[in-house]
Amino acid sequence: ASGYTLLRDPHFNKGLAFTEKERDAHYLRGLLPPTVISQEIQVKKMIQNIRQYQVPLQKYMAMMDLQERNEGLFYKLLIDHVEELLPVVYTPTVGEACQKYGSIFMHPQGLYISLKEKGRILEVLRNWPEKNIQVIVVTDGERILGLGDLGCQGMGIPIGKLSLYTALGGVRPSSCLPITIDVGTNNEKLLNEELYIGLKHRRATGKEYAELLEEFMTACKQNYGEKVLIQFEDFANHNAFDLLERYRSTHLVFNDDIQGTAAVVLAGIVSALNLVGGSLGDHRFLFLGAGEAGTGIAELIALEISKRTNSPLDEVSKNIWLVDSKGLIVSSRKESLQHFKKPWAHEHEPVEKLVDAVKQIKPTVLIGTSGQGRTFTQDVVEAMASLNKKPIILALSNPTSQSECTAEEAYTWTQGHAIFASGSPFSPVEYEGKVFVPGQANNAYIFPGFGLGLIMSGTIRMHDGLLLAASEALASQVTQEHYDRGLIYPPFTNIRKISAHIAAKVATKAYELGLATRLPQPKDLVKFAESCMYSPNYRSYR
Ligand code: NAP
Ligand code: MN
Repeated sequence: ASGYTLLRDPHFNKGLAFTEKERDAHYLRGLLPPTVISQEIQVKKMIQNIRQYQVPLQKYMAMMDLQERNEGLFYKLLIDHVEELLPVVYTPTVGEACQKYGSIFMHPQGLYISLKEKGRILEVLRNWPEKNIQVIVVTDGERILGLGDLGCQGMGIPIGKLSLYTALGGVRPSSCLPITIDVGTNNEKLLNEELYIGLKHRRATGKEYAELLEEFMTACKQNYGEKVLIQFEDFANHNAFDLLERYRSTHLVFNDDIQGTAAVVLAGIVSALNLVGGSLGDHRFLFLGAGEAGTGIAELIALEISKRTNSPLDEVSKNIWLVDSKGLIVSSRKESLQHFKKPWAHEHEPVEKLVDAVKQIKPTVLIGTSGQGRTFTQDVVEAMASLNKKPIILALSNPTSQSECTAEEAYTWTQGHAIFASGSPFSPVEYEGKVFVPGQANNAYIFPGFGLGLIMSGTIRMHDGLLLAASEALASQVTQEHYDRGLIYPPFTNIRKISAHIAAKVATKAYELGLATRLPQPKDLVKFAESCMYSPNYRSYR
């Protein structure tokens, strides 16, 4: 290839870091200014550039532009400044990027499969330049973060998630494939927008929707084989639960909104036990919100308790209660409930208000997954504090404006007794001279390492045991030193190490369950995970 093409191929481009020898060998003479600089200096320069932008969306666009220009530098930058750049390439900024995707659209970074491609999806997959795909993140754009239906513009989400698979979990960029399935949108604003990039009609549903997804799932397996991991992301809950159920026995499928969230939150609760005492089975859980996140977490908690106490699931489920938009989920409502709520419909009189549910159920752990901000009001939080010496309060709804309460409210209203974590980040809070550091139940703790574990072991099907293994692995990464600082999650700076541990635990479990196909089983799975991880450092070209 000519030097000119080399400079324009993001997988190989190193910009000014091409050495004198490389410039000679690859016809680069004169195509670059004479100076040669290291990747470290390039990182330093880029982070300074990015910090100069005041507007988060500009930072996002600068990052996307870099990804299209120089992949190695993009990942090196992201890894070296992970805490600073995570909110740029992922939530919250990615949300704004999706909302404005039509107008900021520069390079098509993934595959678009719309109803127009019906009957030709295999052909579409074959147009993608990479053949060896290991992870697909796919959305239909119907429930992007807490922002609702963004149709085809949801593409920012699979792209962002996959860049975290690589940066945090070390999955090779060339084996990641972002896909958006476009069946239309019910977002009136987008339908009327000149620059909207998707199909301009209302969403296809029912048979038409199911057939397109069936063709897609079949084509993926046909083209990439049994081991490709298909992650469903930001589907509306009526489709999310159905897709997971329909394909769990034929494909390796994972839903981060349901399963990933559950593993992260369970890990936080398990490590919080070190601060509040008692065992998991002694606790009583109340959720506000019974959708993907709420019921996913509830189910994994129940599985873990059942495993630890050797008790049947329906027995331990009795300590887990959920409130939805109609009030406490109780058995008298059973007939009218969606199937994923039914296991949580216990014998109790109807209760409408959250505060009354708290007073009657007497939970030790209160979890917000309602998408509704300011719903953990002062009376609710005070009720938790009067029932418990150290109430665990998790306000998980995103973005920040939707959080059920703020960190400051949680600490103030419980006089500093709450163990608090949230979905969106909050700064440390000072209360009566003491500093409290809130935890962030960020899904990025689990899914990259989880995916790596599945990929490196050649796992072919999902299993709840794998999720429990990931969750336990994360909790085990929280040390006494962290507990002393009141943390229930480890700091993000060590995330690649954490991911390697999660990957190893997940792979170990996969071998145990007979779901792993990479044989023989590597002896030291942590070392093996580390050796599998993609490095963004430039290689030298001879
Ligand atoms: P979802 O499937 O749409 O579920 C939302 C649930 O909240 C539904 O059960 C709904 O009730 C209930 N609800 C809505 N308004 C309510 C109200 N005023 N009072 C009580 N319940 C109410 O959404 P999801 O995927 O579970 O996501 C929910 C939230 O969790 C989002 O804000 C999301 O950002 C957040 N989340 C956080 C994390 C994290 O922290 N790592 C991960 C995933 C999701 P009905 O069923 O009656 O409609
Ligand atoms: Mn999501």
